[in-house]
Amino acid sequence: MDQVEIRTHTALHVVKGAVRKVLGAKWTASTYVNSNHGRLTVKFERKPSDQEMDKVFELANEKVRKNLPIIIEVLPREEAERKYGDEIYDLFLISAEVRELSIVVIPDWSINACNKQHTKFTSEIGEIIKDYWRYRNSKQLLEISFDIKC
Ligand SMILES: [Zn+2]
Repeated sequence: MDQVEIRTHTALHVVKGAVRKVLGAKWTASTYVNSNHGRLTVKFERKPSDQEMDKVFELANEKVRKNLPIIIEVLPREEAERKYGDEIYDLFLISAEVRELSIVVIPDWSINACNKQHTKFTSEIGEIIKDYWRYRNSKQLLEISFDIKC
């Protein structure tokens, strides 16, 4: 990943924290990063309102401005599960052979097992700009697309 993609990927964690907070959506179904463009897809049972989606981006950018540290905790898998439960997991599974997890913690905001590269602080991401979102009722999936300011 180049520096822009590291920022875009890190933004996924910040946006996910906002989606968890505003909508209560817990499970990430997939993620996509291409240069400064990112997309987060979460399992969700209804179409959110425009106001809710605006709130997601408002809170995400608030966390960027607060310059929170992004903490990486490397833990044996059992210990990570004891400490954080299934909150660290996504719908796509981590192979059972993986015995040690990197837990990406944004304090009081987001927890996720992830072995990719991240910025050290949220402010390094830069502004997160809403691109589009759509809800696919048949699959109960909410897609959220964004760009980060280059
Ligand atoms: Zn990550």
